[in-house]
Parts: sequence; structure tokens; C-alpha cells
Amino acid sequence: MRNLEEFFTEPACGINKSKGDKEKKVGCSKPKPGSASGGCAFDGAQITLLPIADAVHIVHGPIACAGNSWDNRGTRSSSPITYYRMGFTTDLSEIDVIHGGENKLYMAIKEAVEKYNPPAVFVYQTCVPAMIGDDIQAICNKASKDFNIPVVPVDSPGFVGSKNLGNKLAGDALFRYVIGTKEPEYTTPYDVNLLGEYNIAGELWQVLPLLQEAGFRILACITGDSRYNDIATAHRAKVNMVVCSKALLNLARRMEEKYGIPYFEGSFYGIKDTSDALRNMALLIGDKDLIERVEKLIEVKEAETKEKLKPYIEKLKGKKVLINTGGVKSWSMVAQVQELGMEVVGTSAKKSTEGDKGRMLELLGDEKKLIDDPNPKELIKIMRSENVDLLLAGGRSKFVAFKEGIPFLDVNQERIRGYAGYEGMLLLAEDIVRTLENPVWNLRRRKAPWQE
Ligand code: SF4
Repeated sequence: MRNLEEFFTEPACGINKSKGDKEKKVGCSKPKPGSASGGCAFDGAQITLLPIADAVHIVHGPIACAGNSWDNRGTRSSSPITYYRMGFTTDLSEIDVIHGGENKLYMAIKEAVEKYNPPAVFVYQTCVPAMIGDDIQAICNKASKDFNIPVVPVDSPGFVGSKNLGNKLAGDALFRYVIGTKEPEYTTPYDVNLLGEYNIAGELWQVLPLLQEAGFRILACITGDSRYNDIATAHRAKVNMVVCSKALLNLARRMEEKYGIPYFEGSFYGIKDTSDALRNMALLIGDKDLIERVEKLIEVKEAETKEKLKPYIEKLKGKKVLINTGGVKSWSMVAQVQELGMEVVGTSAKKSTEGDKGRMLELLGDEKKLIDDPNPKELIKIMRSENVDLLLAGGRSKFVAFKEGIPFLDVNQERIRGYAGYEGMLLLAEDIVRTLENPVWNLRRRKAPWQE
């Protein structure tokens, strides 16, 4: 296991930069008991890497760990080979705890290579084999040599921390074992990578035509709708965009150090953020024609989108919304609904990094609107005191909304429609209006005959 300390003291993190020397050494908050309850480090690592559709992903651990499978998240792929949708696990048992699980892991890799012939195998370390001392790195090295195929160890036992830390560990595995191991067939001056874009509900496909129209080529998307070989060539990009994610910032920073690829953080949620992302990409590439082309495209797309949004904004202006979603979405979604004229009365800060919190505060201007513990009781309290019109949250919060009779829209990874780019902005507006106008809420609020 790598020294975890460095993941908590990321030098590229804006918050860390602003700290004094002593505080810098301490870094972000270390995991405390319970911090893995919203998803453990293994879960986070797998979330990040599973969209690499043509690789085999073997979970080295008891069968229950493999319950975190692809269909928990709506990450979509156009790959004809979809090994990521199959659950591979070494299914460790009590006997393996006594005798060790290394041999079983080696045999599992062998079987996967022989049966499926993938371009690479990812092996995830989980709590039990980590505690009994299975050396997955050594097994992966041996298997890689024996079967002549990349076998990537992902050292992510759940007990080391939260889902967010797991994202970072996945980025670390990509940097150490994958990126830079292959050369692309050809390169262009407009090659960019997207880091931390997982193509949830097809969101990558919403922005891809836009990026292509502007003149960019996506060399590698890490990791939405990706193939192993794309990611192996990512070191040849001219710019890295860290999409809505502090989690892969360490990867961007290290790629800049090693390969000289400049990076910026951006988001495709909302009109302004989408335009800023295109603009920053062009500016970092520094091609005059490209910059002009991008500005023209932004002008056309913004005008088009704003025109189409008018009827929705009329209906949504002033409506109060409460947001309970994880990580980066908690701020990027704030910006998005504010552009629709809605008032955000609170947003969850539970799974957000310090950087995410800083951005939320910038947008909301009131620390009280950052909810550190969005438990159902707290959500109900805010819904009642603020007279909330809408709850934007993940599936787990829907019952709170149903009980209160408050319109609810699922914006988490299980969502059916993507909300990225200009096109996604329209879809979000449409979905919010549909949700608010759904007659079911009035029926829900009606008293039963025996209560009247
Ligand atoms: S890795 Fe550990 S915390 Fe995560 S699911 Fe497996 S046993 Fe649970």
C-alpha cells in the first residue's frame, strides 16, 4: 500500500495551497470510523475504473464486495466488448483466510485471460485479503509476465477510507501502471483528455459532438466510455480537463509533472460552466484559430439555449430547491439550477472535498446552506422551515420527499437522462418542470377520506 499521507496533502488542491506550512502537513481530514458508510475506498476505486469496458475487473475478496457492480451506476458504453458488465471475483472464503488467497487470485487471472482474452486485467484489493497479507502487487507482476498482458493492481482495501479516497487510489493505479504504456496511432494539436467523466446516463455523449464541433479531439476519457488502450495513450494529450472532480486532481497534477500536460478544473453542468470549459481548453492549447472558433460556437450555443430555456425559466423562477447529492455535483448542480432562476436553500456537503465546499460557498454565499449531515430528519426540517418546492437528490432520499409530499427528481448516478452541456441544461429544465407539474404530488398531499 502506498503512503496514504500524500493523498491527503495534494499540493494541487486549492485549499491546501492556501494553508500555512503546519496545516499543509496535516492535509485534508483523515478517514474516521463511519466515513466508508457512503461507499468504501474499494467502491470508489471500482467506480472510477469499471467504465473501462473491455478490461476484466477482478475483485479479490469475499463475494459481498463484488456487490458493487456496474449496474449500480448508469455509466454507459458504446464498446462491443462489455466485460465490465460481468462480475469477476475470487470469492474468498474462510479456508482462504487461513491459507491465503494469492494462489486463488493467480488462477482467477489465468482463467479470465484464457477465457476472455482482454487487453488488460484490473485486480482490486479489498479488506479481507489486505488484512491477511495477500500481496496482490506481486501476483499481478507474476501474472503479467506469465500471460504477457497488463495486470493492474488497485490497492484499495475498503478500510483505508471513503469512496473519494478510492477514486484517488484508482487514479494512482492508472498513473503508475497504465498511462504512457502505449502510443496513439496518430496525434493532433487538439488532443485533450477528460478526467473524472464517467458517462453517467450518456453525459459524455452529450458534450462529445460539441467538443468535436469546436475542433477538439478526445484522446482519452478517464474513464467514461473508454477502452484500455485509449487510456494507455493518454500521455500524448495537449490538455487535461478535470471534469467536476477533485478526486482525480492528483492524476492531473502528476501528468503535468511527468508529461508536461497542463490541466484545468471544469464542469459541463450549466451554460456558463460549459462555455468556460470550452474556452479554457482552447486557451490552454493556445491556437488562435481554435480560440476564435470556440468563441463563435459559444455565442451561437448560448443564445440558442437561452432562447429555448425561456418558457422553463418562467415556470421555475423563484422556486425553492434543496439539493442532496454527493461530491462535486453538490456545487455544479447549484450553479445549474441557479441559472434556471431557482433559489437553492441548501446543499449537501457530506461527501464533498474542501475544494467543493469552497465553490458551494462562493455560489451560495451562506455557510448555513452547506449541510454537513443531510440525514432524513435534517432534510425534513429544512423542507418544512423553508417551504421547499423541489428536492434534487439520489434515490435514497426519495422516500423522505414522498412522505413530505415534496416533488423529487433523481439526479444521482441512477438517473435516466444526462444533464451535461447545453443540451443537458434543457433536459434538466424539462425534467424539473415535469416533476413539479406532475399531478401525483397533489394526490399525495390530499388527505385520506377518513382523515377529513
Ligand atoms: S472492501 Fe471492505 S468495506 Fe469495501 S465492501 Fe469489501 S469488505 Fe466492505
